[in-house]
Parts: sequence; structure tokens; C-alpha cells
Amino acid sequence: MPDEAIKKIIVRAPNWIGDAVMATPTLTALRRTFKAAEIVLLAKPAVAALFEQHPDIDRVMIYEDPGPHTGFFGFFRLISAVRAERFELAFLLQNALEAALLAYFSDVPKRLGYATDGRGILLTAKLKKKSAPPHRIEAYLALMQLTCEAGQHAKRMEKTLPYLVLTASERASARLFLKSQGVNLNKPLIGINPGAAYGTAKRWLPERFAETADRLSEAGQAQILIFGGKSEVTVAQDIQGRMQADAVILTGKTTVRQMMACIRECRLFISNDSGPMHVASALKVPQVAVFGPTNPEASFSNGPHDVLVRKQVDCAPCRHRECPIDHRCMTGLEADRVYRIAQRLLEAPLKKQPAVFLDRDGTINPDDGYIDSIARFSLFPDVGKAIARLNKAGFYTVLVTNQSGVARGFFDAAFVEELHLYLQRGLAREGAYLDGIYFCPHHPDWMSCDCRKPAGGMIDQALSDFRIDFSSSYVIGDKVSDMLLAEALLPAEKAQSVLVKTGEGEATQKKLRDSGKIPDHVAKDFPDAVDWILKQKPRDATSDEKRRT
Ligand SMILES: [Mg+2]
Ligand SMILES: [Zn+2]
Repeated sequence: MPDEAIKKIIVRAPNWIGDAVMATPTLTALRRTFKAAEIVLLAKPAVAALFEQHPDIDRVMIYEDPGPHTGFFGFFRLISAVRAERFELAFLLQNALEAALLAYFSDVPKRLGYATDGRGILLTAKLKKKSAPPHRIEAYLALMQLTCEAGQHAKRMEKTLPYLVLTASERASARLFLKSQGVNLNKPLIGINPGAAYGTAKRWLPERFAETADRLSEAGQAQILIFGGKSEVTVAQDIQGRMQADAVILTGKTTVRQMMACIRECRLFISNDSGPMHVASALKVPQVAVFGPTNPEASFSNGPHDVLVRKQVDCAPCRHRECPIDHRCMTGLEADRVYRIAQRLLEAPLKKQPAVFLDRDGTINPDDGYIDSIARFSLFPDVGKAIARLNKAGFYTVLVTNQSGVARGFFDAAFVEELHLYLQRGLAREGAYLDGIYFCPHHPDWMSCDCRKPAGGMIDQALSDFRIDFSSSYVIGDKVSDMLLAEALLPAEKAQSVLVKTGEGEATQKKLRDSGKIPDHVAKDFPDAVDWILKQKPRDATSDEKRRT
């Protein structure tokens, strides 16, 4: 069956959070390869939460274990649920026999994965585990070669960085949550993650975490946050008790998505080799990753903002959950070393990138009144390709839209978010993404807010959420209020404004002319505006590989 004809794919996610994050480049590759297919991720609850807003998959099916899918009968309940979906391809990122049994008994005709755990006979296309590259990111990606004829490998296995997605409202709620926990948000936040679900061998010593955190908090006037799961509360309390500075314990208090959003607020993260290390890396938070018994060649997050630190010892890497000897890989690693690396990361100026702020209605999609259903939403031609070009050129792409239909009661904020996820999923098929999406839900007459364009509230929020250089940024829109956004930060900084003739663009051009104001450029439509932007003086841009936030 040609791949274009495949309509439904089930991806069995790994069970550990760290592995699941390392599988995201493969999900991106699948998304870009099977553009027409519905991609459903089957995942246990914690991993399912990780992917709630992920645009590379269309839907998450929860493997409820513990719960209705536990045990022998539970497994058969799961099989009948999967079988009812009539998937055409099963892509197994989880290496257990069980995953293959599930695909086989659910009558999925194509079953791809590693021939591990004695399950080779159940797979229709397989790789030997021995042939897998050592690093897990690449080992997952290598499975893509099973989806195609030889010769197409390179394109399908195109490497992207792991990434996770949070909405602007999740980030705003996380800030409220942190405040409610007594966190001072005016200080730089430093997160530490002293646990490791796998076992104590992966844990650096609590007294050293405490010493490092104290010194950092003193030197940088920083606020320390302690992260971790419910089983790690004791170690968090131990560290807090040893510290002079105030540390706020978030351990065991957050859902997976809250944990992600709180990590994203941190200026620096210090972690053992664990799920949160991969989360911080995928969210591009500068990080010191402390490795002991595990092999960084296989599992270091290796993101552009990650620094690995470890003590070289003869017995590492080992695969022990608990150290059978003196834990020298960790006891040999002094607090001072971690402190100095952390301090260097804090002092390094964060490199800023230009952004393109884009309007929604009338700019990237037809503006025919309030869009109150997903069926009424479609993009102008070639918008996805144009956004992908901005992504590749290293621009942040940030959507800013007035949606007073919320205040007017035509639809609610949850609908706007659902529509935006639909938009992101459509863009993902074209290899494009929006880094941020902001909308003002307020009514122009009933209340004055600082976010409704032309006010600059959404720009301000984007500047605090991303490392944006505003003076080399652009605003694209079809209304006067969009053009004024370019001046939202005057007299400090001005961006360039680009008016598109779609939507209300023609009328706006006349209005601007009459008032003696002109945008910096007038373009036929959005792709034309992007052409112009990319022709301006070359920016200090990084590629898609380097930056995805
Ligand atoms: Mg508009
Ligand atoms: Zn507003």
C-alpha cells in the first residue's frame, strides 16, 4: 500500500516521560511523511498528558493502566477498543512484546518496530535492536526507514529537535499557581530536580543540591524551586531543610502539564538524568544535567541549552538502579563544579531572535465574520509553506489576534484554543509551526484591557515568554490596529509593519494614506509579505534545528 493512501496510524508511545520526549522527532517525521493520515498516539496517562497539545499528533488514546486496561481482561478491553478504530499502520515506539501483541490482535495490517522481547514474528517490518544507533532519539528515528523504500530514508529521517508545546493560558495559569505557592516571580527562578524515577543510583547527593542551590540563590538573588514526583517528597524536604535560602517545594504538587509549565518559567534547571531533564531540554530552558551511572551517549538530552556534567569513573555506565558499591560517580562530583557551570549559564546573555507577529483573520485566513466553528476556518493558499520558511530562517512566529467574539458570547475561550490547536495541527503537516499564540477575548466597549490591538499587551507577554529582538521584528496584518502594533514599544523600539491587501487590507491602505501614515511595506498577501521579509537584510538567524520553543 502506498504511504499516501494510509489513512490511520496508531503510535504506541514509550512509557517513560524521558523516552517519550526523545521520541518527538520521530513523531515530527511521521507527521511530515503521512500528511493525509490521522495519527493517534496510544499512551499511558503521564505520557498522554505530555502530548495533550502536541501538533504532530491528531489525537491521544489513553492506555488506562492502572485502570480499565489493567490485567488480562483489561488488555482485551484495550484490544477491542483499538480494533474498532481500524488502524492501517502500527508504529511501535515501545519495545515490549505486549505492544506487538496488541497491534497483532487488533488486526492492524502493518506493524513496525524493533524485533525485541521475542516479538519479531508479530511484526511485518522490523529492525534488529543491535542495529539501532546508541542514542535513543536516533534509535526511534531509525524506525522511519521501515516506512519507505530505500533511497527515501534521508528525507524521512530528517532530524529535528525534541519539542513540547504549552499554550499561553497554561503558562499564565502556571504563573498564578507559582504565586499561590509563595514564589516570588520577580526573581529569576532556578529549578532543581533531585529525584529520578528509575532508582537512587541516578541521584546526585541532596546536600550537594542544597549547597549549589544556596550559592546560586545568594549570587543571583534567585528563587529556588524543587521539582519531582510524589515519591520524591522526602528528598525535596531533605534539601529544603539543609538550605539557608528559601526554596519552594513543588514536588508532588503538580500535574504533568503544570510541571512542564513551571519548568518553562525557570531561567535555569539543574537535574539528574530523568524525565524532567528531557522536558526542560524540549522547552529550551538552559540546563545543567548531572549524570552518574547512566550513559549520556544513549540518553543525554543534548539540546542547544544543555550542559552535561559528570565524574568519570571506571564503573560507569552501569545499569544498576541502586549502587552496589560506594556510588563514586555521584559522590565524586563536587557542588562547586555544578555551581560554576550553572553560574556560567546564568551569566551568558540569552541570544535574541527576531519575530514575525502575525494577525489571524483577514491575514492568514478569510475574515468572514466571527469564526465560531472549525468548519468555517481555512487558511489562504500557501500560508503553511510561508510560515515554514520563517521557521527555517530563525524567526519566532507569533500569532496575535483580537477575538472579542468571546466577550460577545459568540463562542468561548476554550473554542478559540481548540481552533488554534486545529490550526497548529494543519501547519505541522506542512512542517510549519507557530511558537506562540495570543488572543484578546475582551470587548472593546465594555472594558479597557491592555491586550486588545492596537494596545501592546500581547506583544509584552510574547517578549517575556520568548527571547525576541523586537527592533528586528515584523508585524503582518490587514488593519490599522495591526500596523500600530509595530509601534507598541515606542520610543524604545520599533518593529517593521507589513500590510497585506487581503481581508480589510485595501480599505486600510486608503485609511492610512488619508492619515498620512504608511506601513513599511504593502504586500499582496501573506506569502508575498514573507517573501519581502526574507529579502530584507540578512538576519543573524539560526536554523529550525537550533531553535524551536
Ligand atoms: Mg485581521
Ligand atoms: Zn484584552
